[in-house]
Amino acid sequence: MNEEVLFPTYQRFPFAIESGQGVKLTDDHGQTYLDFTAGIGVCNLGYQVPTLQAAVKAQLDQIWHTSNLYQNHLQTEVAQLLVNGEDRCVFFANSGTEANEAALKLARKFTGKSAILAFEHGFHGRTYGAMSMTGNPHIQAGYAPLVPGVQFATYNDPAALDQITPDLAAVILEVVQGEGGVFVGEPAWLAAVNQACHEQGVLLIIDEVQTGMGRTGYRLAFEGYGLDPDIYTVAKGLANGLPVGAMVGKKQLATAFGPGSHGSTFAGNPVSMAAAKVVLQTLTPDFLTAVQAKADQVWAYLQTEIAPLPVVNQVTGKGLMIGIHLAESLPVAKVITALQAEQLLTLSAGDNTLRLLPPLVMTSTDLLAGLTTIKHLLVKLSSEVMA
Ligand SMILES: *Cc1c(COP(=O)(O)O)cnc(C)c1O
Repeated sequence: MNEEVLFPTYQRFPFAIESGQGVKLTDDHGQTYLDFTAGIGVCNLGYQVPTLQAAVKAQLDQIWHTSNLYQNHLQTEVAQLLVNGEDRCVFFANSGTEANEAALKLARKFTGKSAILAFEHGFHGRTYGAMSMTGNPHIQAGYAPLVPGVQFATYNDPAALDQITPDLAAVILEVVQGEGGVFVGEPAWLAAVNQACHEQGVLLIIDEVQTGMGRTGYRLAFEGYGLDPDIYTVAKGLANGLPVGAMVGKKQLATAFGPGSHGSTFAGNPVSMAAAKVVLQTLTPDFLTAVQAKADQVWAYLQTEIAPLPVVNQVTGKGLMIGIHLAESLPVAKVITALQAEQLLTLSAGDNTLRLLPPLVMTSTDLLAGLTTIKHLLVKLSSEVMA
């Protein structure tokens, strides 16, 4: 196969995932894996989910595209499930970055201001607006000029509060920074940011693209912190793998948008909507309680068995979003490859962090089996690295 026909924007492992069932994946060499990636926090309900398959197949047989020039009952239904009784409006997009573009545009248009405060190690996507708000010089390198008006502050730093001034249109942040290294926001700091935004007339945008849809044990991570964002964005887990994103804003912001002020040909696609509807219906309080219970077991294991290992600097995260920060002497790429040989798929984040985003439906037995594999490997590699 000639891989050079693709732009080399990804570092790819030398195998292809060909099928999935439940929480197991099979590659083109017939090897099966336990999946601690869920895509990248996308397939939270696993693979070949009967309710999802049925809804998507039925929609494919009915219609798979209409323009946004007509009423769309399915979009309305999904939006209603998403806002969950709150006084909010939804704009559908096709991805996380697009949801953040919509948030940026709405924030500027509604406030009439342009300045945005974002955070170092934050990640909001790859298109110009979202990339300009992404606090990672490596991601921005070579793309100047970026969208002007974005300033950065240090995440979890009380000094950042001084940067929340009335000239800002918005502050954008993740409650747990995903790509940046699984850094968890401190509750008191997040509450102070929330309060400062509301006091200064600055919109608070919470990027829930990775943390949302049950990942942290809450439907949306900010619910676990009692925050009140003016706008939040979701994507990754929303349709369990079909492309979709959504920007959800308080109803009073809707006056800033009118016909033609924003749009997208594909956004709110019926097939993605059919899947999103099932996902949202699945995220019941009972489902989330079960995720939290499994996460409690996972964190007990992480604290006692993995955090104390000599090659582990710290373990961070929330719910089933986990970062095992490795010592510099042990490159995360080496760990990921070695775990693949042990039939476990994992991710990296930040500088040298092993990131785990298992499907939320994984049983505690499978979760603990995967963690045990990780522990044994880290113990083995410790002795090599320390030798
Ligand atoms: C993945 C991610 C995005 C970008 O989503 P895409 O669908 O890849 O555009 C934005 N924000 C956060 C927090 C993410 O994790």
